[in-house]
Amino acid sequence: MIKSAGAGSPAVGAGMLLRLIRDGEASTRADLVRQTGLARSTVAQRVEALLAHELVYESRGTVSTGGRPPTMLAFNNAAGVVLVADLGATHSRLAATDLAGNLLAEHAQDLDIGEGPERVLGWVHERFGELLAQAGRRAGDVRGIGVGVPGPVAFSSGRPVNPPIMPGWDGFSLPDWFASRYDAPVLVDNDVNIMALGEHWTHWRSCEHLMFVKVGTGIGSGIVAGGHIHRGAQGAAGDIGHIHLSDHDDVVCRCGNRGCLEAVAGGRALAQRLAAEGRDATDTRDVVRLVRAGDPLAIRMVRDAGRSLGEVLAGCVNFFNPSVILIGGDLGEAHEQLLAGVREITFQRSLPLATRDLRTEPSRLGDRAGVIGAAIMVIERVLAPEAIDRAIQTGLAA
Ligand SMILES: [Zn+2]
Repeated sequence: MIKSAGAGSPAVGAGMLLRLIRDGEASTRADLVRQTGLARSTVAQRVEALLAHELVYESRGTVSTGGRPPTMLAFNNAAGVVLVADLGATHSRLAATDLAGNLLAEHAQDLDIGEGPERVLGWVHERFGELLAQAGRRAGDVRGIGVGVPGPVAFSSGRPVNPPIMPGWDGFSLPDWFASRYDAPVLVDNDVNIMALGEHWTHWRSCEHLMFVKVGTGIGSGIVAGGHIHRGAQGAAGDIGHIHLSDHDDVVCRCGNRGCLEAVAGGRALAQRLAAEGRDATDTRDVVRLVRAGDPLAIRMVRDAGRSLGEVLAGCVNFFNPSVILIGGDLGEAHEQLLAGVREITFQRSLPLATRDLRTEPSRLGDRAGVIGAAIMVIERVLAPEAIDRAIQTGLAA
């Protein structure tokens, strides 16, 4: 039963009933009465509102013992569509999803974020139109837009803040840009945060404290603390790529400091070192290709990169005590070598209590973690109980 929910409690509106149905906690009106303590008539009335807004639908259940089967209630995933863009430094993935985060259509392409917001978003808008058409939906069906960008973001306003690799984007309002094109909320977050959210929501819901580490050209992490994304005071939480490693002061980082983790273990750094050794490597994907082809130097470098990452993560484990660390990003595709190094050092250097139940695993969503996470970010906002109650009160579709 929902805590503090007395019969007729205003806190338990139609939106909360929808949440129970979506989460699989309730599938009949009787379940809803049991779970909320509301009167049958109140539940019936609120379910009618959800049915009228096509947020739930009814179906006939089955009973093995004979008698009249109960009327089952289910969430209508198709009540709207969400458009999402996971914009990386050099390549991007876009998708249209239903309201459960299932992909309806997607598109991935190399794209330089440095071309600036007008050009990049113009391109995103065109692709969104194509994705909607592929999914058989219209602009009016769009319930929200989610965008991930490779830099810190002021989450409440949807503006990137001092993003080091995104010239022209500092302070640019993505919600304002989309406002004239779609009548739907626009949410923007750091790309690693949405990846962490996507993994957490789809595979680790019961895990309250989790870290997602993206190892690509650079290195960053997203933190789920107490079941929610932890962004920090300025949206810069989890930026582990610029934590200093001892014994690497000979390496200069693009941030101007020396010995940063990403200058030692990031994909760009590895590709440069492999190229200096005569290998055909210009970016992270080349490093992964060489590892997969069994190149002993590439394998050793990625294993060492895992150890360097493990040094920083050992500190994170002692400080934050996550129960799961997930490794994703392009270099995460070479996860066997990378994880071997990470596990070796993390378990050596962290306190035994912090590592007792710690799991260190590869990302399960792979390169779709970002788009799925962006969709979840939007869905959780537009289907939040208070948002549903507001929509029903004002007579609008959710
Ligand atoms: Zn740095």
